[in-house]
Amino acid sequence: MFLYNSATHKKAPFETHTPGHVEMYTCGPTVYHFAHIGNLRSYIMEDVLEKYLRYEGYDVNRVMNITDVGHLTGDSDEGEDKMLKGARREHKTVMEIARYYTDAFFDDCKKLNIKRPDTVQPATGLIPEFIAMVEGLLERGYAYVAGGNVYFDTSRLQRYHIFFDHDEADLQVGVREGVEEDTNKRNKNDFVLWFTKSKFEDQALKWDSPWGVGYPGWHIECSAISLKYNGEYLDLHCGGIDNAFPHHTNEIAQSEAYLGHPWCGCWFHVHHLNTGDGKMSKSKGEFLTVSLLEERGYDPLAYRFFCLQSHYRKTLVFTWENLDNAQGAYKKLIARVAALVPGDGEADGAVLAAQREKFRNAVGNDLNTSLGITAVYDALKLPTNDATKLAVLEDFDSVLGLDLVKKAARKREEDAKMAASAKTGAGITVTGEGDPEIDALVLARAQAKRAKNFAEADRIRDELKARGIELTDLAAGVIWKRI
Ligand code: AMP
Ligand code: ZN
Repeated sequence: MFLYNSATHKKAPFETHTPGHVEMYTCGPTVYHFAHIGNLRSYIMEDVLEKYLRYEGYDVNRVMNITDVGHLTGDSDEGEDKMLKGARREHKTVMEIARYYTDAFFDDCKKLNIKRPDTVQPATGLIPEFIAMVEGLLERGYAYVAGGNVYFDTSRLQRYHIFFDHDEADLQVGVREGVEEDTNKRNKNDFVLWFTKSKFEDQALKWDSPWGVGYPGWHIECSAISLKYNGEYLDLHCGGIDNAFPHHTNEIAQSEAYLGHPWCGCWFHVHHLNTGDGKMSKSKGEFLTVSLLEERGYDPLAYRFFCLQSHYRKTLVFTWENLDNAQGAYKKLIARVAALVPGDGEADGAVLAAQREKFRNAVGNDLNTSLGITAVYDALKLPTNDATKLAVLEDFDSVLGLDLVKKAARKREEDAKMAASAKTGAGITVTGEGDPEIDALVLARAQAKRAKNFAEADRIRDELKARGIELTDLAAGVIWKRI
């Protein structure tokens, strides 16, 4: 597989420390609110990446943290803890908020066919490991204590800015408008490894440490969690592009200073989902969630399809019109798959192998998912039998996760049920969901209407309505469905 590595700024063959095995880490959500569909764009693309690596035959160990402490409202160590902000907003405890939004996150993931990582670790569950790592950094001379907090000393590094060619002056915390300079820091880029009560008195969760009662910085959690579950050599680190600086930059600083050797081979950053007025963000308060899409009648997998139509390294603009188009195309695609006849002969192994090769050339080239979708449409046009086409689609979908074959089978069943339940009486066709009692009532109403017995027709319509049945009158008959 070829993958763009944001640390080297190049697309190159993906290599791992141990051949055939991938140690993969993903920055998990900060669970102070629902995940918005921008966050979920990142997780969808990371999920496709994981599935593709497995498709290529790699054995993958994927780890994700849950940020339930230490992520401040400003990424440069200023502001209050985001979890505390969430707890205040909802008059709940921090742990109640964390539990609620962690569950909500995984419910959303399920709806979007995002696989749960092999290990999911809430930050609050690993405080002793964070403390041990901070102690190690102090021992190695990469950290110092000032004003009650422990800071990472970035001046000890040969190279700090890994991802972008930043203008140093732009990154100086103190010169950015509205950001208060922390006078404890020896260098402007230094960051907090451990906060003590001396700085944020109202922090809800605190632990004892060699430096006093306090709580960890956000960055240390990812370094320590990855070290515990992925080991000393990480092959692939994922996250949204906003996390590249300072979060990932600081993770590299801490991990490499602690380990004394290069840490992570490849960095995969997903670019943002934007709305017309900029990046979708939780802190703005109003944002789109999976539940909201469902309330508006969208299939969550139509959103996954929408994300897959674009490359992960391009900003994706969300509009309702764009989502409508994606949902329309997704439904049409399912209908085309449903039109294939399963069990129509044997699947042709040679065709399947050739198609797999084509799919690998597409998706294996820096995760080009839109070409992966093109491969799906091309497979539908192959001059081969339906059994082969279905086998090819099933194979591609193990990576794309669009439930193409499953949804098509369901559609076939529903269509067959509707067709089988078509009842005729006195030239009136009744089509419904296979309930003879309802069919009879619908037919009786249509006959009463035809006999101009409107009172009876209305009475039956009201009874059906009360039972949750919606009617559509057509020239040739009536269609009913449960609502
Ligand atoms: P958070 O819950 O804020 O810690 O973010 C969870 C993940 O979503 C991180 O990998 C972020 O980089 C990513 N992210 C945040 N906003 C967006 C966005 N608008 N589009 C895509 N990814 C995002
Ligand atoms: Zn992280």
